[in-house]
Parts: sequence; C-alpha cells; structure tokens
Amino acid sequence: MKEIILIKNGELALKGLNRRTFEDMLIKNMRRRLEPVGKFRFTVAQSTIVAEPEDEQTDLDEAVERIGKVFGIAGFSRAAAVEKDMDVILRSAEEYLAPQLLTARSFKVEAKRSDKKFPLNSPQICAKAGEYLLEKFPHLTVDVHSPDLVVNIEVRDAYAYIHGKQIKGAGGMPTGSAGRAALLISGGIDSPVAGYMMAKRGLELIAVHFASPPYTSERAEQKVHSLLKQVSKYSGRIGLWVVPFTETQELIKDNCPEEIFTVIMRRMMMRTAQIIAKRENAGALITGESVGQVASQTMPAIACTDAVCEMPVFRPLIGMDKDEVIAISRKIDTFDISILPYEDCCTVFTPKHPRTRPTLEYVEECEKALETDRLSRECAENARFVAINAY
Ligand code: ATP
Ligand code: MG
Repeated sequence: MKEIILIKNGELALKGLNRRTFEDMLIKNMRRRLEPVGKFRFTVAQSTIVAEPEDEQTDLDEAVERIGKVFGIAGFSRAAAVEKDMDVILRSAEEYLAPQLLTARSFKVEAKRSDKKFPLNSPQICAKAGEYLLEKFPHLTVDVHSPDLVVNIEVRDAYAYIHGKQIKGAGGMPTGSAGRAALLISGGIDSPVAGYMMAKRGLELIAVHFASPPYTSERAEQKVHSLLKQVSKYSGRIGLWVVPFTETQELIKDNCPEEIFTVIMRRMMMRTAQIIAKRENAGALITGESVGQVASQTMPAIACTDAVCEMPVFRPLIGMDKDEVIAISRKIDTFDISILPYEDCCTVFTPKHPRTRPTLEYVEECEKALETDRLSRECAENARFVAINAY
C-alpha cells in the first residue's frame, strides 16, 4: 500500500496574506531535512501539505522522525494513499489501521471530500465506513464525542487518504521565517536550549563561541560542535564562528579589578558577537541567561551587559528555573552532552568574589584600561568558521 505523510501546518494557517510564503519556506525546510532519506513530492491543499515519496522504498520511519523536528508543523500523520473507490477505501482502512483499531475500544469516522465528483458525500462515507469497520472489529463501539481513535478518510484529487492517530509536530514557525539571529553558545546546559527556543519561533541561527586556548581545550570546542549538531536537527544548518578570546581575557585579568571580570568579559562578548551578527545579516543576539542564576545574571549585571548592545538581545530562559531548562534540554537531547566535563572560558577566569550589583559608571571606569573597540574588532576578524549540519 502506498504510504505518504500528511502535514497540518499549525500557526501558519493564521498568517493570512503571508501564508504562501510561509508554506513555501516550510516545504523548503522539509525538503532539505528529508534529502538524505529520499526524494519527496510536496503538494498543498487546504492547510494540509502532502509529502509523497517518489520512491516506494523510501524509509518512512526515518522521514517521520525528521518531520517531527521541523518547526512550523502542528501535527502530522502517516496515511495510506489509495484508489478513489469506496470498496478499496474500506478494505484499505481495515488493513492499514488494523493495529490501531485492535487496541482501541471506541472509534468514529471523519470524512472529507474535496473531490466533489466522488459519488458519496462525507456523511455517507462516514456511515459506510463506520458500519463496515464495526462489522470487522466487533469489539469496538462508536463514540462521536471522545473516541479512542478517529479514522480519517479524505477523498482528494489524486487519491483517497486514510489515516488514524495524529503525531504531534514540533510546533512554532518555519525556521528562517522570522529572520536570523546570533546565538552565543557555551558548552553549558542553557545556551543550546535558548537556541532551540528561538529557532522554534522561526529564527535561523548562526552561532558564536568564545574559546580561550590553551585555557580551554580542543575538546571543549568539539563539545560545542556536538551541541549545535543536536540543535541543528531542529533548526537546520548552523554556521558557527569560533572566536579566539585568550588575549582579551588576559588583558581583562591584568588590567581590571577581579570582582568585575565577568561583567566586562560579558560586555566584550556582546560587542564581538554584535560585529559578527551584523556581518552575517543577523538582527539580534540570543543568550541562555536567566535572572539571578549566577553573579553575572543579576538585574544590575544584565543592565551593564545590555548597555553595549545596539541590537535586541533575546533571552528566552530569562524567567525559567534550572529544572525547567533541564527538562527541555533532555527533550532535545542536549543534556547528556552539556553535562560532559569541559573548561569554559568563563570558569577559567571566574573571580572568587564577583560583584553582584555592579554600576554602569564603575564598569565603564574599569574598562578604560582596555581598548574595547580594537579588541572586539580583532576578535571578530580572527573568528574561524565551522559549518554545522546534523545531516
Ligand atoms: P550556559 O549553560 O549556556 O553556559 P550558564 O548558566 O553557564 O549558561 P554563563 O556561563 O554565565 O551562564 O553564561 C551566560 C550566557 O553567556 C550563556 O548562556 C551564553 O549565551 C553566553 N556564554 C557564556 N560563555 C560563552 C562562551 N564561551 N561562548 C559564547 N557564549 C557564551
Ligand atoms: Mg556557562
């Protein structure tokens, strides 16, 4: 039996005028994500996208796994695509949905007929199929209000589609539909989650990672690659810029009061990330900060960091508890990578007694000892590019 995937595109349906553009973007993203699995033909009709494998041998399990991670999809189903003949439809429903029908206690049939030439109308299709399935699966009862299983029959242009349980999609908006932003990524738990959350809102990600060799190792950078690979299963490919940060950090250490290291370092990161973001046509920065989590994330410290930013800084974790962040990192499979030991450029230079309530005047005064513009420009110029793509 021919099998296809029927995709319901969630929030997209609300976008009115822009709908076509969004749909095109979603299809482009799906096509790219499914490329290693096989060639698919995509057709759109009434807020449903049909993905039909061109080759019958295509691994649909793998395709379903991948579609489940594409943003902009509310739900989707595997469906049998059969000849538009009522007898064929009935026998196919019996066979194709047998595993689901056998485990359900109650069911109902829902039918849609967009091909008005089909001899039966929707209520007639429902009645016929309901009667037939009851006879074949006598343990079932019909429940129109809250059935265990809804048997869907959609008679469309080329085929009749039969499907049962819907699979929940990744939600959100198609990656790229909201523009592009630069994710500051460490090897920790928070920043990969922050990237995932903003990609879900339709942002295409580029990533910026600050490395301080020899204080930080090659292994620490590899860890960032692994984290981004995992995020890219949802966000699509990510361009990573690895910034050499050693000189900047040593200058901070040698010239600024220890209690204020972290805030100054954060400001240097933002300045540099911003230069890279502009160069890459990104319109915002993304960080994994959350209020009060550590000394550099108190409100006064964040205010000092923000003071050097000319573009919006998205902090999707700002109001979340650590356990909420961890729950998401487990869901997207970054947690086990994040908890591997590594040296972060921050931890290497962490002061013993950081100031939790820095004032901007004080920070700016301390920074006078540094050539902040030159340093951040050089950091951005010397950044090294790595293309990250899970597929
Ligand atoms: P994470 O788990 O993301 O490392 P964290 O709770 O450890 O976050 P910090 O180390 O204070 O918090 O970092 C706050 C944010 O600053 C991070 O979420 C990340 O966006 C950014 N950041 C920290 N270190 C780096 C780095 N080496 N390269 C790029 N960005 C960084
Ligand atoms: Mg960290």
